[in-house]
Amino acid sequence: MTATLRTDVGKARRQNEDAAWLDEKLGVFAVADGMGGHLAGEVASGMAIDAVKRMAASHEIASISVMREAVSGAHEAIYAHAKANPACAGMGTTLSVMWRGGHYMYIAHVGDSRIYRLRGGEMEQITQDHSLVEELVRARILTREEARRHPRRNIITRALGTQGDNAPDLLAADRKPGDLWLLCTDGLTGMVSDGDIARTLKETDDLDAAADSLLAQALDAGGRDNVTLILWRDEEG
Ligand code: CA
Repeated sequence: MTATLRTDVGKARRQNEDAAWLDEKLGVFAVADGMGGHLAGEVASGMAIDAVKRMAASHEIASISVMREAVSGAHEAIYAHAKANPACAGMGTTLSVMWRGGHYMYIAHVGDSRIYRLRGGEMEQITQDHSLVEELVRARILTREEARRHPRRNIITRALGTQGDNAPDLLAADRKPGDLWLLCTDGLTGMVSDGDIARTLKETDDLDAAADSLLAQALDAGGRDNVTLILWRDEEG
């Protein structure tokens, strides 16, 4: 087993508005964190993941331009759906998607879900949050630790399906055999520190045990949000 996925409603929410998907053979991994009233968040994150599945099904070779198209298509579809369905007004979603290429992992990212890479015992956050607190950290107004506990930490500055900024960050991150990749929503990173996440990933080679432990830590810390995570070990390189 070199890939595993967990998604959990958590302890405070009634619905799980996160969505996630992976196909190890195709080398595609994605998490989305929906927002909006009632069931709308679920609709938005589900539509983003469906767009990723269609992309993976119709293209054999990873490409940034195909990803850009898929993400912009997802945005248009979610926006149109929200306009046509009053119950979905204002819905939106994050999307962090990673597609395996020969030497790189191609990444498209919008919002505050995250992709991390653990290599040689060092865990690095590959994506950058599109959030208010991230901007305050970069402006040196908040420290990382203050940002994690800030009352407005849930405010994101980019999302798919909403009227504001929806442009994805597009990047290529190099890959090596043995790299361990983590994709997750803020229900994990808001509850468990980077240090604890890294420690957990280094503790065991068993991905299922690591995924179970990360989920348990998020729930033990309060589980205030939906928790979703994907772990994948790159064994080809
Ligand atoms: Ca969330």
